[in-house]
Amino acid sequence: MANPKKRSSKQVPVSDGQIIVRRLFELFGKAFIAMVLVGIISGSIVAAVMAVYVFKSLDGTVDIDLHDLDMKYTTILYGTDKSTGEEYELKRLQSSENRIWVDFEDMPDHLWQATIAAEDKRFMEHQGVDWKRTTAAFINQYIVKILPGTQGGSTITQQVIKNVTGEKEISAARKINEIFSALKLEKQFSKEEILESYLNTIPFGGTTHGVQAAANRYFDKDVSELTVPEAACIITITNAPSYYNPFGEKGAIHNKERRNYIYTQMLDLGYITQEEYEEYYDSDVEVARKNTLEGETAMLTWFEDYVIDEVISDLKSELNITGAQAWDMVYNKGLRIYTTYDPLVQKNLDNSYKNSNTFPPVINSEYPESAVVVLNAEDGSIAGLIGGNEKNGDRLFNRATAAQRHPGSTMKPISPYLQAFEMDMITWSTMFMNDPIMVDGEPWPVNFYSADDGKKISVVYALQRSINRVPAQLMEVIGPEQAFNFLDKKLAFHSLVSPEDNYQHNDMNLSPMTLGGMTVGVTPLEMAGAYRIFATGGKFVKPYSYTLVTDADDNVLLEKDTKSVRVISEETATIINKLLQAAAMQAPGTGTAANLGFMPTAGKTGTSSDDYDQWFIGMTPYYVTAVWMGYDEPSQILYYNYPPPILWKNLMTPIHQNLEPKEFAECEEVEAMEYCVVSGDLATYNCPETATGWYKESFAPSNCTVHMRGGSSMRDYDDNDGEFEGGVRTRRSSSNDD
Ligand SMILES: [Zn+2]
Repeated sequence: MANPKKRSSKQVPVSDGQIIVRRLFELFGKAFIAMVLVGIISGSIVAAVMAVYVFKSLDGTVDIDLHDLDMKYTTILYGTDKSTGEEYELKRLQSSENRIWVDFEDMPDHLWQATIAAEDKRFMEHQGVDWKRTTAAFINQYIVKILPGTQGGSTITQQVIKNVTGEKEISAARKINEIFSALKLEKQFSKEEILESYLNTIPFGGTTHGVQAAANRYFDKDVSELTVPEAACIITITNAPSYYNPFGEKGAIHNKERRNYIYTQMLDLGYITQEEYEEYYDSDVEVARKNTLEGETAMLTWFEDYVIDEVISDLKSELNITGAQAWDMVYNKGLRIYTTYDPLVQKNLDNSYKNSNTFPPVINSEYPESAVVVLNAEDGSIAGLIGGNEKNGDRLFNRATAAQRHPGSTMKPISPYLQAFEMDMITWSTMFMNDPIMVDGEPWPVNFYSADDGKKISVVYALQRSINRVPAQLMEVIGPEQAFNFLDKKLAFHSLVSPEDNYQHNDMNLSPMTLGGMTVGVTPLEMAGAYRIFATGGKFVKPYSYTLVTDADDNVLLEKDTKSVRVISEETATIINKLLQAAAMQAPGTGTAANLGFMPTAGKTGTSSDDYDQWFIGMTPYYVTAVWMGYDEPSQILYYNYPPPILWKNLMTPIHQNLEPKEFAECEEVEAMEYCVVSGDLATYNCPETATGWYKESFAPSNCTVHMRGGSSMRDYDDNDGEFEGGVRTRRSSSNDD
């Protein structure tokens, strides 16, 4: 009998089930194993990567207080009330982001409903993170592109974190960080608060941020007035402001398509009815292109402009950051800036500049520009600024702090005279022949008033009349190097050109150091700071517009050193102050038009070549004020009466009107004495004509020897008790008499 071929007896009997498995295995075997392995490996990688990043990120979660979110971003300038010492809010800086906060209850419901429909349908249910979307997005981004076209997994909560922290970089670490921050945020704040923050921080293209600014910009209406299609339109824009820009033809089409999607989702979520859905679907919105925000911006004063400049400059140097970073801090990081703002000064300046009577007449048809710096005499802080005749924008060119112009004769008190008095080269009444010196074989300089050329004149007269030749003779002896180093190192003049900078054309020369013919120039701010030494008995501090800058959490970022330090002797400062009073209050001073009358006034005029720059730098016991006039494109100013001292008086009168009159502080080692106007030495009874001068006790002239008793010009007095009419008789002069 023929046995059918049997399987080998060694074969293991198999069941039907085993056969099926085996066949399945044969069918799918390799592919199946591969899939399982891929799954396990992918899962492990996901888990490992996530674990590493979670571990790394846990400490980096962001703590955000949504309640003061708007405050966190807005930088605030403060002033101090002088009478109470209390700080008050001066100005909130318009952020570089055009953002106007609107509270949740002031938004229409369909606005946040459209937001949820468009961005995060499960927002009301999840705890800050939509795990389904997150996992899909994570695998898609970091493991393998298995789900082409999958969108990012960010919920509204996560987007709030993103908008608040400003983190734009997409990395796994950042993502994990964001997830944990979002979970934390949801525990601390309600859904309404999170929606409010979201809607106030989302970008809308350009500098527009938040739904209120967007409602203004795109529909010229308040956010509360938005219709459902308008709300959907705005929520669409934030996804890709240029792609969905309703102002553009293509953008309008894209925007409408996206709106239709939002209506569908809103219907699905029960936010709108079927009837409403049909009404809105494919409907148009009417956009109004009008930037209503520009006009609403409260303009900064010249002072506030400068505070920002100074803070940015100091942040750069102190924190060693770039200008762009410093700028971003000031505009977007909610700094607290404690300024030196003086409302009495700045408000009066601003008012005066609105009044055409403030400006003295000139002959030119176009009125010259002008700039003003007012410093508090006491502490050197900036009390007020004017950077130009008109202010029609923010952060304009500020002539008060940035225009570098030739100071002309205003250089004399801080350079040749200061040095000569400090070195005891001269006294109030030292006599000089009004003759030129020789420079390169040529006589130099010429005098503006030639009537006194070749005559013997005193120091006080030379300063009052702004004679050029006397300070030139002084500077020839002092040497420009000494004057230069003093201005550069002690008075913080920023733009002096040294021989190292430029050997051919530098300021270490007779002309710039004597008559202010600088290579570049000086600013009104620098001049005011320098002149203040004559109001403080010789102490200087670089003028400052703020004392303290903190971040929004009161951490100190910048603190000014506001201490004035001695740069010249009290005696020299007092005597030059008295000389400047003579120039501003007594004939033949060139600055007498500035004399306030009810308050001691001291100051000096200055004019650069061809009348391009005209100055008066003056002071009272309260304020030191530099006034500059000139054209931006230098051109001659033609006038009837020299304008700067008149402008100075017109500006200072209202500021000083209600201040208690007081005297400048005087040094006790400086004394008023009578001098002989012929010899310049201390007067005796025999001197025919005398005047009062101010002298260092340590360095006063000897008695006049020109008018000896018994001489032809002997002067008769009733008695020998040492009293002069109209003058101060001193022990020194009387003791040697008779
Ligand atoms: Zn005399």
